[in-house]
Amino acid sequence: MTLESLGPPTGIRCTARRSNGEPCGNRPMRGQTVCRKHGGASPQAKSAAERRQLEAGARALLADLDVDPVGDPLAALLRLGGQAIAWQEAAAKLVNELADIRYRAANGTEQLRAEVALFERATDRACQVLATIAKLRIDERLTAVSERQAEAVIGAVEAALAAVGVTGERAVDARRAAARHLRLIDGVGA
Ligand SMILES: [Zn+2]
Repeated sequence: MTLESLGPPTGIRCTARRSNGEPCGNRPMRGQTVCRKHGGASPQAKSAAERRQLEAGARALLADLDVDPVGDPLAALLRLGGQAIAWQEAAAKLVNELADIRYRAANGTEQLRAEVALFERATDRACQVLATIAKLRIDERLTAVSERQAEAVIGAVEAALAAVGVTGERAVDARRAAARHLRLIDGVGA
């Protein structure tokens, strides 16, 4: 889906009224409910329309995605952190490609380009996610989860050995072999 396709559908008309009280009847500016003559050309209206169109585009993309439920919120947060950083870097690239971060609007005032606002929001969000991850010390928790899983597996191995009558030195050897194997496949269980 392109942003072009998010423009006003044919037949939609400016919602403002003329001085004689009749409906305006002009086509509204893209992403807006009013025409150029009724305030649609102002920098604020244009940047609000741009934001609405970006959001509509993102919602359309989201609707097409297969969204899985979050099974492991900690791992999901780490993935989100990666995405927030990638998004922030993409926004930084957009800003770097600008020749001039300010432009002069039709009314003579200087405007900060939309890409700069996007970059600043992306930076703030990436910081929030990273701060949350740091606060939860997720890496440590994930390692602790893996260690608990390794203990559970070794416990199961011991129970199975006891059930078939393997005890003493042979049981100790089996436990060591299981722990060594878990370290090899998961880097934990030391
Ligand atoms: Zn109008």
